Parts: sequence; C-alpha cells; structure tokens
Amino acid sequence: MQPKKQLLSLTPYKPGKPVEEVKRELGLEKIVKLASNENPYGCSQLAKDKIVEELSNLNVYPDGYSAEIREKLSRFLGVSNDQLIFGNGSDEVVQILCRAYLSPETNTVMAAPTFPQYRHNAVIEGAEVREIQLVNGHHDLDAMVEAIDKQTRIVWLCNPNNPTGNYIPEGEFVAFMKKVPRDVLVVSDEAYFEYVAASDYPNTISYLNDYPNLVILRTFSKAHGLAALRIGYGIGSSSIIQSIEPAREPFNTSRIAQAAAIGALDDHSFIEECKQKNREGLELFYEFCDKKGLLYYPSEANFILLDVQSDADSAFNYLLKKGYIVRSGNALGFPTMIRVTIGEEEQNKEIIAHLDSYLATLVQKVNE
Ligand SMILES: *Cc1c(COP(=O)(O)O)cnc(C)c1O
Repeated sequence: MQPKKQLLSLTPYKPGKPVEEVKRELGLEKIVKLASNENPYGCSQLAKDKIVEELSNLNVYPDGYSAEIREKLSRFLGVSNDQLIFGNGSDEVVQILCRAYLSPETNTVMAAPTFPQYRHNAVIEGAEVREIQLVNGHHDLDAMVEAIDKQTRIVWLCNPNNPTGNYIPEGEFVAFMKKVPRDVLVVSDEAYFEYVAASDYPNTISYLNDYPNLVILRTFSKAHGLAALRIGYGIGSSSIIQSIEPAREPFNTSRIAQAAAIGALDDHSFIEECKQKNREGLELFYEFCDKKGLLYYPSEANFILLDVQSDADSAFNYLLKKGYIVRSGNALGFPTMIRVTIGEEEQNKEIIAHLDSYLATLVQKVNE
C-alpha cells in the first residue's frame, strides 16, 4: 500500500539520540543538551502547582474549548475569546492551518532556511512550496511579496527566525502587510516572543484589526519551559479562527497542559528572569565570537547560530565527546555553522571553552 505520493518525498522528524544512550556510548557522566531551544531553568513553580492539582482529574476529558486558559490568555493579550485557537504545541496550529488552507491547487511562500514544519505540512497537503532564500539571515520580504500569486494561500514569517535568531522589525513588517493581498493569510510565528529585547520588534497583536488576514503563533514550549506538555496557540481575527476550528481535533490539548499554561501565565517574574539570563548568555557568546572573528547572527531568541570555520558535523562531534549536544548546521542549511541553545551560565562558559579548544585543533591542522 502506497500512501499519498507527497509523503514519499518526506522523511519523518529525526529526534536526537536519547541523552542516556549518548552517555553510555561515550562513557560520559554528564550530558548537556543545548539543541532544542528548551528553557534551561525549567518552568514556573506556579505551573508545577497547577499540574499537581490537576492530577485528581485525569479520568475526565479535557475541556475541548480550553475555556479557562482561553479566558485568561485573552485578557492577558487584549484580544477577545474567539480570537484564539489552541494546539498540541504551536506545531499543531501549523498543521491545522495547512489542512485548512492548502491543497494541490495552491501554493505557499516561506523563507529558507526557516522552521521546517511549514514546508513539511504544506508538502503533505500537496501544495507547491515557494522558498525564498534569506539575505544575511533576514527574510527577503520584497521577494516574498513577488512570489505571491492568485494561488497563494499562506505566507510564513518566522519572527525571530529559527535557525538564524534574527527578527523582522516593525517598519518592514507593516510595509510587507500593506503589500500582501487581503485574501492571503500571513502567519507570524513568534515562538521566541518572550525572549525578544529589540525595541522595534512589532507588536503584531496591535495590527490584527487592520489586517484580518494575519495569524500569530505563540507557544508555552520555549520561554515558559513547558515543551513536554505540548501547548501553543494561534491568535487571529475571529472569522479566521472560526473557519479553521473544524480542522482541530476536539481534545487536542490535555488537562495537564491547560492547567500548567494557566499557572505559567501568572508568573511574570519567571519570564523576566529567564529573559535577562538569556541576554547575559547571548552576550558571552557574542564576546567570544567577536574575539575569535567568528561569524554569527545577532539573536533575539534563546539560541545562537555561529560559524565554526569548518564542517559543522566535525564541530558537533567534537562537542558531543565533551558532553555537549548542539544542532549541526548541516541539517539546517548552514553547513559551517552550529546552533547552540543558550544554557545556564556555567554551561555557556564551558561550551565556549570547548569551542575555543575546537578552533585550536583547526589551527593545528592547518599548521601540520
Ligand atoms: C520550537 C518552535 C515551534 C514549535 O513549538 P511547539 O509549540 O513546541 O510546537 C514553532 N515555531 C518555531 C519557530 C519554533 O522554533
């Protein structure tokens, strides 16, 4: 039995090796995973308390409307209740949008390299994928507008972009929105929203009234530290949210996830603290890269893409043997770069020291 033909061109998501297995294979005591942009500080205690409370309700289906978190989040964001859709991670909202809008007769426009799930889900729906190369790590918004035609249904903006970490400033975002036809959906994926420090980062929610074709994606997986529980959301005009709701499974977010998200939303100081420490971590990496003359992209997220002046996999393997798992740029479209999640201070210092000795091995090789 053959599946739909478009599935044949895709490979399943390749998860990294389990930490325990790597430990055993390499005989390491400690492994630090800085590969998936998880929060090194865990999650808020308020989220944990809510999870414990919810343990007595595991026999009951979740609220399919997510009423409590919906109410709380809508007040927090200043939008109405019917402008939110929840997903099993924002990954699932990407899937719902693709199911709802894409088909073999349509196309979708995105940057490249960017977050791979836009392309993956579009291919499953049989849509044509139009990828517009980044310019210096930035979305080429003019070229993206030019790629739009009558068959275009969704344009994806990843802001900040994964894997480069850089952002689309407000002026560029607004100029772009003005040029995109109103019957084309623009999705602004803001998975790293809470980490952004740039003052000209767009407050996209304030543009929802002007642009009813705008959908914003956010998540509890990154700064809120709840990646394991899978809960993210989309924000859009009530008419768009209403029209995509039938493509959502009725109980797609669990009770535990909804409860944890409610707790997490109350803990502003946890987010502020993580954001601050993340900034300090980024600065350490910038300083090191500047000193060593390594190219990198200034980041508004909790990761940094930096050049290792050699094959990315060889840097990856070197760091792995030292107990640090990063993302090799080979799979990300940057064959001489690695993407490193900003960790705790000690971890940042240690991995930077390992990078330093890795670079020294390159010099040695040249001299041999
Ligand atoms: C991590 C990430 C997501 C997915 O987050 P989940 O809510 O855990 O599914 C979405 N978009 C980008 C750009 C990401 O980096």
